[in-house]
This record gives sequence, C-alpha cells and structure tokens, in this order.
Amino acid sequence: MIRTAVFPYDRCMTVFALLTQTATDHGSRWLTQAGLRPTRQRVTLAALLVGDGSDRHATAEGLFAAAATCDERVSLATVYNTLRAFCDAGLLREITVDGAKSYFDTDMCDHPHFYWEDTAELTDAPRDALEIRRLPQAPAGAKVVAVDVVIRLRRD
Ligand SMILES: [Zn+2]
Repeated sequence: MIRTAVFPYDRCMTVFALLTQTATDHGSRWLTQAGLRPTRQRVTLAALLVGDGSDRHATAEGLFAAAATCDERVSLATVYNTLRAFCDAGLLREITVDGAKSYFDTDMCDHPHFYWEDTAELTDAPRDALEIRRLPQAPAGAKVVAVDVVIRLRRD
C-alpha cells in the first residue's frame, strides 16, 4: 500500500474561534461555571476553544499554534496541562486515536467520531445512526465508564 499526502499530525488544522471580547467573556464564563479560576492563559485557550459557541475537536498542537498567533505566550506543555485540567473539570472530552494522538472535544454528549486517516482529522459522525446493542461485561471489580466509537476512514 502506498500512502500519499499524509499530513503531519501537528498540522491538523482546526479553525478556532476569533479572540474577540465576546469570545473572551464566553470563555471566562465557561471556566468559572466549571469551578476553574479564569487565569489569563486559561481564558485565552477557552476563548479559542468555545468563544464562538461552536463545538470543535482540538489537538494540543493546534491550540498551541492558534494561541501563538494571538500573541499568547504559552508553552506546549502548558497547553497540554490546561487541556487536561479542562477535561478533569468536565469541560472537555479526550479522544485518543492510535493510542497516542489526543483530540479534545468540546461536545460532552456521547457521540461517535470519524477519523480521517489521510489528514489525521477527527469529525463528528451522525449520532442517531449508531446503535450499540451489547457490550462485553466489564471484568470483576471494574465498570464500564465510557465507550468511545471512532470510525476510521480512508478516502478512495
Ligand atoms: Zn465530537
């Protein structure tokens, strides 16, 4: 098999919200409603993620690049830690693909995803088209807390 036009993972481009005052206010409220202190860096990242009220799937690398274009001095490690903190606060859901690539989804409702192998892009799949009839029983002493459905796609 010949792989063509594989985009590097960190070039997966999510279009983030514009950093307007409205977006910043929205991001700030998003944080405080979840009990997070709205530090300047957190507010900037939150505004980019949810400032326009749209849901998106972000990578740490993509968000880092977007923050850099807004003159926000923030390290990639800080972006990662902030995204994890947003997850812990119940604001984001982390979706891992290939055991290494993490996407952070602002849509907290259960829904399946399409993973586009050629562009390393994660998009929402129609949620009402998925039906899970039965799951394997969790091993003794464990319970199922989530089922992530990622449908891998390859363009013809
Ligand atoms: Zn999603």
